[in-house]
Amino acid sequence: MKPARFDYYLPSTLEEALAKLSELGSEGKVLAGGQSLVPMLNMRIAQPAALIDINGLVELDAVACENGALRVGATVRQSTLERSDAALGQVPLLAQALPLIGHWQTRNRGTLCGSLAHADPSAELPLLLAVLDGSVEVHSSRGARTIAARDLFVSFFTTSLEADELIVAAYVPVAPARRCYAFDEVAQRHGDFALVSVACAAEFDEQGALAYLTLALGGASEVPLVVETADALGRHADRELIAALAERASVACDPPSDHHASAAFRRQLVRTLTGRMLTALLRREEAAAT
Ligand SMILES: Cc1cc2nc3c(=O)[nH]c(=O)nc-3n(C[C@H](O)[C@H](O)[C@H](O)COP(=O)(O)OP(=O)(O)OC[C@H]3O[C@@H](n4cnc5c(N)ncnc54)[C@H](O)[C@@H]3O)c2cc1C
Repeated sequence: MKPARFDYYLPSTLEEALAKLSELGSEGKVLAGGQSLVPMLNMRIAQPAALIDINGLVELDAVACENGALRVGATVRQSTLERSDAALGQVPLLAQALPLIGHWQTRNRGTLCGSLAHADPSAELPLLLAVLDGSVEVHSSRGARTIAARDLFVSFFTTSLEADELIVAAYVPVAPARRCYAFDEVAQRHGDFALVSVACAAEFDEQGALAYLTLALGGASEVPLVVETADALGRHADRELIAALAERASVACDPPSDHHASAAFRRQLVRTLTGRMLTALLRREEAAAT
């Protein structure tokens, strides 16, 4: 299929882009990497009156380290991050999550910010932002604001962005010294969207007890779901605790049933992946301590 007719704008300054977004409101759509939007246009799932292509805004194509976070501009490609030793060194979870997204060709065009704005509940990057407690910097002709990951994702493919707002950059917190990470998923084939994915950030103290733990699930609810883990802090991540956390994750989520998998199967995947990842993190920690 071909898209319905639309007008096309290629602003050369941020002010111009924001003015156009403000003028068009919900009639306009931002075009970043086009890896989600263009298929939706072709299938006529989206029929905006106009596209505002942000790829001419050179200032948005930058990665920098600012105030303990990696600031990733809105047109930075997923593949740019994947090839950046500096970015992967500062945010090691990117090295685990990025290769799971689609294919090399899609990552060559697709952006981190575009994936966040698209808010697919199965997507890896919203889950990464949620587990790392990151945020986005949003601009409109009315001003600028920062939205934390927990307030950005509202439901399936829906964010708290207003129609005239542009994500200018994402802030992904840099890894503290002792923090360790894991990201894993189950997909039917390589490059497919995940049936479910699990991401984890943990820290163990000198005695091997959990000093920090964040556990988040993708594809298992309308938005990336952060599981309550505060009561695990100070405890040793033994088999019993890991089994209890895996069970809690599987109960906390509310996965969909569709032609790919039933909700019960997805729940079981959450339980298995969570248990496996926490065990792997613990083993890594034990190996590092000996
Ligand atoms: C074959 C294929 C396989 C894929 N597999 C996966 C996968 O396994 N996992 C995964 O997560 N993704 C997958 N994707 C999607 C891919 O990661 C996209 O790159 C991503 O979802 C959107 O990023 P984009 O830059 O291409 O955004 P676009 O497609 O340009 O835009 C997506 C949406 O976000 C809005 N938008 C974009 N940028 C901004 C901004 N800065 N501010 C405000 N709104 C904005 C657009 O208006 C649009 O509504 C796949 C895509 C393809 C084609």
